[in-house]
Amino acid sequence: MTDDVNKTEEKKDNYEDICYICRRPESKAGTMMKLPTGICICSDCMQKTFDAMNNNPFPMGGMDLSGFSPFMFGGEMPKSQKIKKKQPKEQPEEAAGEAPEGVFDIRNLKPPHVIKAELDEYVIGQEKAKKVVSVAVYNHYKRVYDKSEDGIELEKSNMLMLGPTGSGKTYLVKTLAKLLNVPLAITDATSLTEAGYIGDDVESVLSKLLAAADNDVDRAEKGIVFIDEIDKIAKKRNAHSRDVSGESVQQGLLKLLEGAEVEVPVGASSKNAMVPMTTIDTTNILFICGGAFPDLENVVKERLTKQSTMGFTGELKDRFDGDKNLLSKATAADLREYGMIPEFIGRLPVLFSLNPLDKNMLIQILQEPKNAILKQYKKLLAMDEVDLVFDEGALEAIAEKAMEKDTGARALRAIIEELMLDIMYEIPKDDSIGRVTITRDYIANNGAPVIEMRTHATPLLGGE
Ligand code: ADP
Repeated sequence: MTDDVNKTEEKKDNYEDICYICRRPESKAGTMMKLPTGICICSDCMQKTFDAMNNNPFPMGGMDLSGFSPFMFGGEMPKSQKIKKKQPKEQPEEAAGEAPEGVFDIRNLKPPHVIKAELDEYVIGQEKAKKVVSVAVYNHYKRVYDKSEDGIELEKSNMLMLGPTGSGKTYLVKTLAKLLNVPLAITDATSLTEAGYIGDDVESVLSKLLAAADNDVDRAEKGIVFIDEIDKIAKKRNAHSRDVSGESVQQGLLKLLEGAEVEVPVGASSKNAMVPMTTIDTTNILFICGGAFPDLENVVKERLTKQSTMGFTGELKDRFDGDKNLLSKATAADLREYGMIPEFIGRLPVLFSLNPLDKNMLIQILQEPKNAILKQYKKLLAMDEVDLVFDEGALEAIAEKAMEKDTGARALRAIIEELMLDIMYEIPKDDSIGRVTITRDYIANNGAPVIEMRTHATPLLGGE
């Protein structure tokens, strides 16, 4: 019992007190005065309150209460808005007790080939991208730990990732963050707008990161932010009105990418008087931007055609028409032409692309990754002691169907789910079924799956 009480006390102690009037955390406002109801008030606000009372012969009657929040007298602060206390600098991180392992300790930093080998277990193909990411991440965290004072400053290795929908951009980043055990925030650039307009301020990406790090500022400051759909904030061509969701957002993101101390609302996506604020230093946050960049191929094609026809007028004008990997040839100049501002591109020095997925890759994605979708269904049916088999033709047919949808690997799950519904419904009805084989014909709606009955002499899955 007392143990429980102690634990709660200890837990509470990990969070900063927040002034109920000005919403500043104790790291900014100084030691708080604690009232018996659990309310904390900073000395500035306390002083202001006394001043107001002294100037007014009828206390409360004429007091300005505009800064008071509705839950000021209600006790507890919502958990999403509590900020973890910063660890004192000289204290080693293990001493924090709760500090999770991962890149937060330089001894746990994995070299690029190990990161790549781990990524291989999840992400199919995309060899170049995995290699680039592994090296960039390794360098990034080396830079984070660099305390030397030799005047050589390691530059930030923020990344810009190009690739068609469903080629695994988000999946690659998610897997990476999981392997490194760092907090990850994923945001969509389309939801961001210039401060003051409807939409989220750019700082909201840091609020999300802070939430992903359990409101622990130290942890968030070494996390990863993935901003998807970055192509949607390209400069609008021929814009006659203020471009609040395009160029202005790029401008707003500049200081975050570069590394700055940013005031961030805690537990909310925009600043207002009710939300506590904290400061996050983005110097060690790794920013990865991703986008499909439709039409960028045309920009690249135009440039390449221009280059190749110089001097040989008219030669092979449509030489690049069928090239599926044009995105991999994109340069910073092409992106500038596309509408990204030079300062923005300059702050994302690692530029690489993911290839569109072909049929073979889709077949591999179905069955090879650690958490492959077919493995999941096999496991589900194995619990009913039924062996699920997809023959070669079936795998090809599924991949072909997915290719038609043109949404990369995203289409696979939808196709498989539709396909498996009847099987998952019918099979448990009959105890004697031992094996189900899915064929190309079944996928083309030309027949039933092949069902084999269990022979009692050879029980399928380790029965008695
Ligand atoms: P996008 O490039 O649009 O961000 P996603 O990363 O969201 O695409 O991919 C959608 C899903 O497809 C992922 O959740 C993952 O399961 C699967 N997927 C995509 N590409 C790969 C890949 N190269 N290897 C393994 N799975 C992949």
